[in-house]
Amino acid sequence: MGKHLVLAGGGHAHMVTMANIDKICDLGHSVTVIGPSDYHYYSGMGPGMLGSGYEPDDIRFAIKKNVENQGGTFIRDSIVKVDPVSRELHLKSGKTVNYDVVSFNTGSHVDIPVIEGSRERIYAVKPIERLYEARSEIEQLAGKQAVTVAVIGGGPAGAETAGNVAQLLSKAAFSSRVVLFAGRKLLSKFPCGMQKKSRKILENSGVSIQEAGHLTAIRDNHLSFDSGHEEDADFMILATGVHPSSFFREAGLQTGPDGGLLVNRFLQCPDYPDIFGGGDCIYYKEQPLDKVGVYAVRENPVLFHNIKAFLQNEALQPFDPGGDYLLIFNLGNEKGVLRKNWFQISGGLAFRIKDWIDRKFMEKFHN
Ligand SMILES: Cc1cc2nc3c(=O)[nH]c(=O)nc-3n(C[C@H](O)[C@H](O)[C@H](O)COP(=O)(O)OP(=O)(O)OC[C@H]3O[C@@H](n4cnc5c(N)ncnc54)[C@H](O)[C@@H]3O)c2cc1C
Repeated sequence: MGKHLVLAGGGHAHMVTMANIDKICDLGHSVTVIGPSDYHYYSGMGPGMLGSGYEPDDIRFAIKKNVENQGGTFIRDSIVKVDPVSRELHLKSGKTVNYDVVSFNTGSHVDIPVIEGSRERIYAVKPIERLYEARSEIEQLAGKQAVTVAVIGGGPAGAETAGNVAQLLSKAAFSSRVVLFAGRKLLSKFPCGMQKKSRKILENSGVSIQEAGHLTAIRDNHLSFDSGHEEDADFMILATGVHPSSFFREAGLQTGPDGGLLVNRFLQCPDYPDIFGGGDCIYYKEQPLDKVGVYAVRENPVLFHNIKAFLQNEALQPFDPGGDYLLIFNLGNEKGVLRKNWFQISGGLAFRIKDWIDRKFMEKFHN
């Protein structure tokens, strides 16, 4: 008898499964995809969209259309609760969806500090789609007056965001400022060469880098740091690290230290074999994985194979995370920094390589 497969979140790790919904339906199963938007935005190009290098259509996949064209059902909603015993997903709208097999790819959310007062003009780097709203608002205000945009976070997302806001503001009528609050040290988890190259590109674009410690609170347009440093800004964009949704822990499922759904080498929940997962929302038991899209993309074929195999009572395949990955930061103004193993380059070529890879990725799944 046919089973009901639910894809919870249409993110990067579900791309191949979502492209093969018709094949799963042909086997007699039904497929439902649940996501908060009709589109999934490719995060690798998000900062570029903020900087006006890409338009929303360049960086998003029409998941609702894709699912429905293949005979699946799309539900525009968010999962808020999981019941693994009765095999139920509870949605924000109050609806309940039952499953025989579920795969989670609900990504991660930005750690938000204490915010008092107005939340207006406070953005986070996720969800990616909101970066377009941030872009429009920054453009509008910077057309009327000088603005200060504070980007908080010293990791790749913060560096990319600051560089791309600088690109956006370079076209503004009034001379404006981008301040990157990079924790205690910019890109502290990366090799010294990458730190130096990134710093140089950002500073050449006019980004002021402050290593003033960690943000403790935001009150209206005022930022406070644990070093005692205080600053005012017109816009704030938070890139202060990410964590998976709390619903895995709340459901009593095994999780990693970050709250991510613990999965074995088959990308399967050890206690509930009808639960799979990929991307930022999982904790891979064999070895902790960086929260980068590269792993979500690498998980795709195994996740598709294993979901289909489980539906058909066939053998599962183990996931191999592979070796070091190519890392490229888009730091705005068509400049980037690239690293693969010991090899590093920076400047226009690094950006062009990233742009080419990202556009190819979009093209592949658009088709
Ligand atoms: C600004 C920025 C730039 C980045 N650049 C790169 C890069 O260049 N290269 C790289 O490898 N990594 C990059 N990353 C990291 C990368 O974003 C993540 O590792 C990647 O997005 C993980 O993919 P995912 O599919 O797990 O999550 P996501 O891309 O977040 O996708 C999750 C999907 O699930 C949906 N969803 C969320 N919550 C729910 C819910 N409750 N119910 C149902 N659906 C839900 C979302 O709408 C989304 O469609 C970047 C991150 C940021 C923030």
